[in-house]
Amino acid sequence: MAQAPSRCINHPERTAIARCKQCHKPLCEKCVKKMPGGVYCSDECYQRMGSFQDRVKKLDEAPKAKLSLGKIISRVVIAIVIVAVLYYVFVSQQVRSGSDLVNLIKSFLP
Ligand SMILES: [Zn+2]
Ligand SMILES: [Zn+2]
Repeated sequence: MAQAPSRCINHPERTAIARCKQCHKPLCEKCVKKMPGGVYCSDECYQRMGSFQDRVKKLDEAPKAKLSLGKIISRVVIAIVIVAVLYYVFVSQQVRSGSDLVNLIKSFLP
């Protein structure tokens, strides 16, 4: 599995010392662009990586906050609906239940 040292993509006679973080092209000392966060072959690659990381960050952060808040709200709404339905069923069943109905009828009878 021993590989010959990579050659610069732009200078086949030069040995690559690093690879572009974005496109992984082998780069020689002259072609390497040192940027904050890594080594790139060009500004385009650096910007592409930057926007990619921005997107990852946004994907990582924004939906989490929204999701948890949405989850909490939906859970509260579901809980309220369940309690309301149970209460309604309970109350309406009590009114319709036999003994109550009989008592109600009895109270109207002479
Ligand atoms: Zn590149
Ligand atoms: Zn080069």
